[in-house]
Amino acid sequence: MNDLAINGGMPIRSKPWLDNFTTGEEEKRAVLEVLDGGYMSLFEGSHFPTPPFRADGGPWVRRFEALAAEMIPSEHVVSVNSASSGLTAAAGAIGIGFGDEMILPCSTMSACPMAAMTYGAVPIFADVDPDTFGISPASIREKISPRTKAIMVVHLFGIPCDMDEIMAIAQEHDLKVIEDCAQAWGATYKGKPVGTFGDIGVFSFNVNKTIQSGEGGFCVTPDSDLAYRMQLIRNHAEAVADGARYDNLVNMVGFNFRMTELVAAVAYEQLKKLGALNEKRMELVGRLSDGLAKFDCIDGPLQRNDRESTYYVYPFKFKSDKLNNKSVQDFVAAINAEGMDFVCGYGRPLYLQSVYQTRTVFKHGYPWAAPENKDSEADYSPGACPVAERMSSSEIVINERVRPPHDTDDIDDMIRAVEKVVCAYSV
Ligand SMILES: *Cc1c(COP(=O)(O)O)cnc(C)c1O
Repeated sequence: MNDLAINGGMPIRSKPWLDNFTTGEEEKRAVLEVLDGGYMSLFEGSHFPTPPFRADGGPWVRRFEALAAEMIPSEHVVSVNSASSGLTAAAGAIGIGFGDEMILPCSTMSACPMAAMTYGAVPIFADVDPDTFGISPASIREKISPRTKAIMVVHLFGIPCDMDEIMAIAQEHDLKVIEDCAQAWGATYKGKPVGTFGDIGVFSFNVNKTIQSGEGGFCVTPDSDLAYRMQLIRNHAEAVADGARYDNLVNMVGFNFRMTELVAAVAYEQLKKLGALNEKRMELVGRLSDGLAKFDCIDGPLQRNDRESTYYVYPFKFKSDKLNNKSVQDFVAAINAEGMDFVCGYGRPLYLQSVYQTRTVFKHGYPWAAPENKDSEADYSPGACPVAERMSSSEIVINERVRPPHDTDDIDDMIRAVEKVVCAYSV
């Protein structure tokens, strides 16, 4: 006990952890090529742009979209300047609005519910599945109402959700499905890539993700009308729709979600590196899972042979009752004192944020206060999603270092740190 670093002993590791940089010479060359050409963007918010400008972007944007369409694979790819923009474009494209509800998991990023609220719809938070950490199909069923228009699925931590059950529910109730794949690059369910089950899938290239371009993202869809609607929404829809003689004007709010040529060039090169980066990540994850398997107090991410997770972060559940009732906070503090940087939980369930507690996104309490939404029975009270609340406050531990440029030595440090703390706290 006394040699624990938290009690003043020598830590297992003093070496710093490495940054998540995935770019190199290829991206540098691509960016220089763009700069040599002069145009950093070739989008124009008009149906009749002045050449060489186009309503669907420049050559790098279109080249990037074509490669992504081939890789995912998907019929249509619409690039955007972030996954948050992509989720907003997706919500707009499916025609969600006042009087509608969107069911989504309560453990996710803030941009997910905001995409629905931007168009006046009410987010309904479902609880999560304790094994996948993603939205629970049983909870979706409980939350369905006559107002439900869509389900937003989030493949959290890179673990695919139970897509068979979710798609069956969607079909039964005629609901649209948007998949947030920001953390799930390359993950598959029954051999099929995430993002290709629902109506629209959304991917992220933000600086923390598996592949990155600073900011950036894209939406995939098999539906040409949805693809076109997202193209309009990303590029000043209301200014373009008339010239395009496009008459489904619902949600044609004119945003600028356009990707620059510079970003597209970086993202294009990053797509080519995804396979190798994921392969290394999976090697590290496998080693960590093997190393942690012997500890009773650690419940590693469930391995199921119906899906391939790509672990944006490595999550495990800490079983306090298997370690003398130590709290997860004390456990993680002792491990981090050994030079690790494990994190407790994955934020609070979103409905506990003050936006939901005060029901105010827009002035006068909209969208909830809108007459069309008055009968919506959104429950944002503490305790609404008990599994997510319990797991986020007392069970989940995540670790984001299971990625290159880290190597097996770094993973072994993690295993040694856990072993040291578990041994000390077992007696
Ligand atoms: C990162 C992330 C987003 C947002 O991605 P951006 O590209 O930063 O807008 C959305 N959802 C999830 C689950 C994410 O992890």
